[in-house]
Amino acid sequence: MVVLKFGGTSVGSAERLKSLTALVSREDKVVVVLSAMSGVTNLLELIVEKANSFNLEKANLHLQEVEDKFLDTIKDLFSGSFLEKAAEIVGSRIALIEKDISSSKCDQKLILAQGELITTEIFSLYLNSIDVENHLLMATDFMILDENKEPDELKIQECIKPLMSNDFKLFITQGFIASTISGEIDNLKRGGSDYSASLIAAALDAKAIEIWTDIDGFHNNDPRFVDDTKPLEYLSFDEAAELAYFGAKILHPASVIPARNKSIKVWLKNTMEPEAHGTLVSDNYVSPGIKAVAAKDGITTIRIQSGRMLQAHGFLKKVFEVFDKYKTPIDVITTSEVAVSLTIDDKKYLHDIVEDLMTFGRVKVINNCSIVSVVGNHITSSPRAITKTYEAFETVPIHMISFGGSSNNITFVIDTENKIRSLRLLNNKIFQESNYV
Ligand code: ADP
Ligand code: ASP
Ligand code: MG
Repeated sequence: MVVLKFGGTSVGSAERLKSLTALVSREDKVVVVLSAMSGVTNLLELIVEKANSFNLEKANLHLQEVEDKFLDTIKDLFSGSFLEKAAEIVGSRIALIEKDISSSKCDQKLILAQGELITTEIFSLYLNSIDVENHLLMATDFMILDENKEPDELKIQECIKPLMSNDFKLFITQGFIASTISGEIDNLKRGGSDYSASLIAAALDAKAIEIWTDIDGFHNNDPRFVDDTKPLEYLSFDEAAELAYFGAKILHPASVIPARNKSIKVWLKNTMEPEAHGTLVSDNYVSPGIKAVAAKDGITTIRIQSGRMLQAHGFLKKVFEVFDKYKTPIDVITTSEVAVSLTIDDKKYLHDIVEDLMTFGRVKVINNCSIVSVVGNHITSSPRAITKTYEAFETVPIHMISFGGSSNNITFVIDTENKIRSLRLLNNKIFQESNYV
C-alpha cells in the first residue's frame, strides 16, 4: 500500500489531471489524496469572507470564478454522457455553496470542503471514463477529529480499515477535509492535505507516502525568497518535522509526525518532473551538518518581566497556565533571571492572555515577527555551524534566540521586515559552495 498526495498545482488543470493517470497506476494498492485545484480554496475563503460581510454580489462573482474554473477543466476532460455527469457534479456543489452563502450565517467549513470534493469527484469520474477502475472514499467517513479538534488516530484507523475493500486497487479521497466527533464537517487547516496523507498512511501501515507538488523536493532555503536554492536528496524525519513546523511551506507543520511514528518513508516529488530524484525523508539517512533554513511569519512575541521571578519556583508554571487556559500553543521560549519571552502564532486570545499575564509583571508585545530556523542533524554541537549561523545575523536585530531546545535547530525571532534579508544572508554564509557547513 502506498499513499500518494497531489497538491493544488498538480491537479490544477485538465492536462495535469490527465498526467496523474500514469503516476497513480502501480503494482501496489494505492490511496490517492487530492487537494483542491490550485487557487480554489483561496477563492472559497474569499466567498465566505464576502458573504459574512453581507457583500453577496462580490461573493457570487468569486463563486462564478470557481464554477468557470471547474467547467473549463471538465470541458477538456470529458465528452458525451461523462461530460453531462461532470457538469452535474459541478452544478450541484456550486448550487450548495450558493444556497449556503444566501443563508443568514454561512458554514465556512462546509464551503471550504467543496474544492477538494469537486476535484476528487471529477478525477474519479475521469479515471472511470478511461476505464481505470477506482473507488472514491469520503474523507468525512474516516478523518475524525477529537474534542480538541485534533485528528483522532485510533478512530481514523478504526474507520478507514473497513473501507479498504479488496475489490479495488485504487482509492481516491480528499485531503484537508475532516469530520468532528459529532459529524460536522471540518478541516485540517490550510495546507492540510499533506497531513491527511500522512494520517491515512499511518492508519493503513502504508509502505510509503509520496507528496507530489510543483518543485523537485525539499530545498535548502525558501525558493520564494532566495535564488540558488538546492533540492536535498535526503532528510531525516526529525529534520523534516522541524523544517515543516518552522515554516517550510512545502509540508504542513504536523504532516511528518504520523509517518515518523510508524517509520513510513516520505518522498517529496515534482509532478512536472517525475524523473527528478526529489527528497526522501526517512530514518536511514542521518548525516551531520546544516541541511536547510525555513521561516514562519505571523509571529507575536510576548515578554513578561517580573521581579517575582527571581529565585521563585512555580513562576513559569503560572505563565504556562495562562496559555493553556486559552488553548494557545507557544512556539519559542527563552528565559532570563527576571524575564521570560515567548512567541505565539495564534493571536485569537492575545488580548485576554496579555491581561492575565499582567498580574505577574510588565508585559511587552512585539507584533509582526518571524521565526527563522536553521536545521540540521546535531548542529548545536558543531562549533562551525554555530559560528556561521551567528555570523549571518551580524547586521540583523534579533528579539530572541533559541538554542539547545533540540539538537537539530537554532532559532531566531526577528522582525518580519528583516526576514528575506536574513534568509539571503544565511544562504550566502552557509550554503555557498566554498563555505558549505
Ligand atoms: P502544494 O499545493 O502541492 O501542496 P505548496 O504550495 O503547499 O504545494 O508547497 C510547495 C511550495 O512550497 C513550493 O512551490 C515552494 O514555493 C514552497 N516552499 C517553501 N519552502 C520550501 C522549501 N524549503 N523547499 C521547497 N519548496 C518550498
Ligand atoms: N486546499 C487546501 C488549501 O489550499 C488544502 C491543501 O491544499 O493542502 O489549503
Ligand atoms: Mg501544500
